[in-house]
Amino acid sequence: MFSVLECVVYQHDPRLVLIAALVCILGNICLFVVLNRSTFCVETRRRHWLVVAAIAQGVGVWATHFVAMLAYRGSMPIRFDMSLTLLSVAIAIGFFWCSFRLLGKAPTLRRSAAAAAIAAAGVGAMHSTGMASIIAPARVTIDHGTALVALLLCGLCFWASFAAFARTSGWRRVIAPATFGVLAVVILHFTAMSATTLVPDPTRGAALDAAGSREWLVPAIVFANLALIVLALFGSLIDRWLTDAHGLAEATLEALAITHDGRIVEVNHQLAALLGVSPGALIGSAPADWFVRLDGTPFAAPNGHSVEARLRSSVDEDQILEIATQTIEYRGRGCQVLAIRDLSDRKRAQRAIEHMASHDPLTDLANRAWFVHALDRAIAAREPFALLALDLDRFKAVNDIFGHAAGDDILCRVADLLRAAVRGDDVVARVGGDEFLIIQSAVSTPDDARRLASRILENLAVEMDVARDPMAVGISIGVALYPQDGDDAETLQRNADTALYRAKNNGRGGAAFFDQEMDAVARERRALEHDLRHAITRGELRLVFQPLVATAFGSIVGYEALLRWDHATRGEVPPDDFIPIAEDIGAIVQIGEWVLREACTIAAGWPENISVAVNVSTIQFQVPNLPAIVRDALDRAGLAAHRLELEITETAFLRNRQSALKALHEIRAMGVRVAMDDFGTGYSSLSNLKAFPFDKIKIDKSFVSSIDDDAAARSIVRAIIGLGRSFNMPIVAEGVETEAQRQMLLDEGCPQAQGFYFGRPEANPFAGALSDKTRSEG
Ligand code: C2E
Ligand code: CA
Ligand code: CA
Repeated sequence: MFSVLECVVYQHDPRLVLIAALVCILGNICLFVVLNRSTFCVETRRRHWLVVAAIAQGVGVWATHFVAMLAYRGSMPIRFDMSLTLLSVAIAIGFFWCSFRLLGKAPTLRRSAAAAAIAAAGVGAMHSTGMASIIAPARVTIDHGTALVALLLCGLCFWASFAAFARTSGWRRVIAPATFGVLAVVILHFTAMSATTLVPDPTRGAALDAAGSREWLVPAIVFANLALIVLALFGSLIDRWLTDAHGLAEATLEALAITHDGRIVEVNHQLAALLGVSPGALIGSAPADWFVRLDGTPFAAPNGHSVEARLRSSVDEDQILEIATQTIEYRGRGCQVLAIRDLSDRKRAQRAIEHMASHDPLTDLANRAWFVHALDRAIAAREPFALLALDLDRFKAVNDIFGHAAGDDILCRVADLLRAAVRGDDVVARVGGDEFLIIQSAVSTPDDARRLASRILENLAVEMDVARDPMAVGISIGVALYPQDGDDAETLQRNADTALYRAKNNGRGGAAFFDQEMDAVARERRALEHDLRHAITRGELRLVFQPLVATAFGSIVGYEALLRWDHATRGEVPPDDFIPIAEDIGAIVQIGEWVLREACTIAAGWPENISVAVNVSTIQFQVPNLPAIVRDALDRAGLAAHRLELEITETAFLRNRQSALKALHEIRAMGVRVAMDDFGTGYSSLSNLKAFPFDKIKIDKSFVSSIDDDAAARSIVRAIIGLGRSFNMPIVAEGVETEAQRQMLLDEGCPQAQGFYFGRPEANPFAGALSDKTRSEG
């Protein structure tokens, strides 16, 4: 110990020793800054840093050694062999590189010990090579015992240095290991120097001028120090460059966070703004402190793909953030960057579009498309449920009489009522003008559905008082149950409709459950529909004619053509049974055209003064070419237009009123007469009489049949006759069966009449006359 101190204090220039120590300290600080940096890096980058570290330490130790050598004030002049000197630097660098490679990213005590041994060996090898480069007229003798102690002490100090490096963090991670590193180098150097003796030996080397011999060492050391500074600058430049990524992060619109080891190390202002905190508050926290997954579970940064999350603090149901992560190298460390995009607006818009596509815009109930989807899902779930088909009673009338705004209002009120009556899982849909469907889920007994149906009916009765409110509507409900009434969507819907049809026929405002008997009725109807479509081609239709007479004289002025269907197996089907079906399925358009052409053809063979009346269904007005068909029928039959009369009912004005009026005007312009049929049974609206100049009004037979014993019926007939007079429209009475009725109608001033009293509908009344005529002509 004493000899070491003596060596340092008496054999060295203290100023140069101080410089050597500074060089050593600088080298070690450089080393651990770089090593520290390397542990954060991705592997390839870390290896580069290890090379830099080995150079820093190798050059540092070498510079320390030679500055110390310059400080040595030995008794004889010495100089140095340049190649050996350079070799000594290379040795130091090589050993240190091996040592740092071995040390690894997270050094254990054992690894530190091994690395320390290599480092000490490196410093020792560098030292002895450096000593061997001395050229002096002397023999160098070394006390091997002391040298060994020097190596051992050096190794221990390096061990302490590496262990400190492994166990500290922050700036301590540089200062503590660097202190031990300096100790290791200094202890080895001066202990080894004290163990070294130069024994003068004039046979060796040439005695040289001491000053000249050392000159090249000065620039070498200056270079070494410059190199260290450059290394430090280089490191800081890289830092600067990577720090510029921060500027880039601020330039993007996305919110960004950079995390290292699960902690946020950097954020941009966009993220701070999104979270409503200062950037500083985010540093050091974990992303899970701020975000949760959409299902409320803790947020974990995904790897490579993106997840949807929302803010932990958010109460906004619609908020959706898309968080994508990417591994990057940031400030020399392997980090994850989280890019957070606020998709809330886009999601809201998307949701609105989806909602629009699946909902009825007026009532906000599900639409048909969504309902079909929901029904399929309910069936796929294989759990019992009820399907309720609902239809408003009198809705069409309310809509037509009070206008569409009133109709819309009714629909919305009914929608609210249905929504309030069902449970959360049930689906309520509006699938047509006034048609609604409900899927009632979790129905264990028919009673569940019955309760819902009566709840709806009761609530509606409270909401709308049919007795007082002219705008009030009723509801009819048909119920089919899954799976007993059908296990596929089509059957279920058909059966619910069948039940609804029954509910309506039972006298509206009630509910009906589907049953097999109903099914038979429905099947029957479907069979009838099928046969009706083929009635024309099978030649099963024919016309009969009922006379229209002048009330006063009983003379026939015309005939009304009435349709008959002779069904192959059922026999004669009454028109009151099949006409509504033909209207429902649209077959009436084709059938009506057949009637028109047939009636015109037959009437063309009648005397000139006899006209023919043809019933035209409201549905026929929905086909735009009705006037053209009438024209064509007249032309082909060769019938004068004034001999044709069309009978229409008020329902013709309900839908597409304007186009119906237009068609009527066109028809009337041809010279064809138009009569209003069944007046008094429908809306009997004055506006219809005002809107169109009818050629006559036919009072419905229900009034005529009760005219002799019902004073009210009589006053209605009288009022209608008065009305016709003021509009200049003659009145025809239908269903006259007795002489008393005829007399009464005559008294009231009804010029024409029709009924069994005058004649029943029969086949072509002039068939015989026609053949007579043909015969006489022939
Ligand atoms: P409607 O146009 O009111 O025809 C008059 C109906 O009353 C006919 O029944 C006729 O037979 C019946 N009738 C005539 N006089 C008397 C009477 O004194 N007492 C009673 N109780 N009834 C009488 P029909 O032929 O069964 O026709 C029923 C309905 O079928 C018609 O009522 C009409 O609305 C419709 N219809 C008949 N043929 C056609 C047609 O070719 N086209 C269209 N669209 N509808 C038709
Ligand atoms: Ca008629
Ligand atoms: Ca009639």
